[in-house]
Amino acid sequence: MKTIYDYTYAQFEELMLAQNYKKFRANQIFAWLYKKRVTTFDQMSDISKDTIEWLNSNYTVSPLTIVDKQVSEDKTCKYLFKLSDGSLVESVLMHFDYGKSLCVTSQIGCNMGCKFCASGLLKKKRDCTSGEMVAQVMAVQKELDLDGERLSHVVIMGTGEPFDNYDNVLGFCNTINHDKGLAIGARHITISTCGLVDKILRFSKENVQYNLAISLHAPTDELRSQIMPVNQSFNLNKLMGALNTYLKENNRRLTFEYILLKDVNDSQAMAIKLAQLIRGMNAYVNLIPYNEVDENGYKTSNMKTAMKFYDTLMKNGIKCTLRAKHGDDIDAACGQLRAKHERN
Ligand code: SF4
Repeated sequence: MKTIYDYTYAQFEELMLAQNYKKFRANQIFAWLYKKRVTTFDQMSDISKDTIEWLNSNYTVSPLTIVDKQVSEDKTCKYLFKLSDGSLVESVLMHFDYGKSLCVTSQIGCNMGCKFCASGLLKKKRDCTSGEMVAQVMAVQKELDLDGERLSHVVIMGTGEPFDNYDNVLGFCNTINHDKGLAIGARHITISTCGLVDKILRFSKENVQYNLAISLHAPTDELRSQIMPVNQSFNLNKLMGALNTYLKENNRRLTFEYILLKDVNDSQAMAIKLAQLIRGMNAYVNLIPYNEVDENGYKTSNMKTAMKFYDTLMKNGIKCTLRAKHGDDIDAACGQLRAKHERN
């Protein structure tokens, strides 16, 4: 059965009108879902009985249940959810000084095949619906509600390539951003792509304020094609061309994600090449320590190398941050917890 979370506010208003309900019913129902955060339609006490019956016979509220939860020493919390068809998806809650950020899964498995990624070990089974992404956020927000806390940021950086599920991802962003939905600021929502150039060009024209992050991870075609097969279809020249179009059409700053892999992409020469590649762009680099997975041989760079890489970028005029490692003592790399459960 379809989840009610699949509807954006505009779509839900249309649906209500098509069913001969008054428009304001959409407002009331969304308030129950997203402000009071009820988990059943029966809790909507000011909604008429026949409307509740219609909702109950056509929709569920949440399509997922929590099946596992790991909390690390730094309070990073990894959730494993089961969807109604039995598929497993993960979300990771991270605590920063600027707020609480949830990393959301957009596909069941992923076909992009990045060599360092635990999610890539499980091929794509299907896309998540927008409601299945909304439900991940709602489940975690419900837990935060117990302590009177609020999710401030959402990143679509879990399992899956968001732009390979473009419409559902945009619908999801719309719902969590909408003031009738969760009202998370557009500038606090980040879509991360490994570089699907055609979709970056499409996104450039959406006229939305969501952040765009690029999983770059290598500054040369030779290395990028080795560790990220997407580069064989969309090489760096095409990628940079699309990103420059995006920057021209949107007054937004880009983020480049760069996972530091020991002896693979963390040398001084690579730092200089990276600086040359992106110099002059309105962008900054987020250097990320690698969360090691058992299944491949990649190791995380040591702190000294990571600091040197950071210094070289800064000296070459590139703004960057070196992110602290999160959830090192749990299966925090995307896809790890799910892969473990699917093997068992
Ligand atoms: S890093 Fe992202 S795009 Fe690449 S395989 Fe993993 S989930 Fe897919």
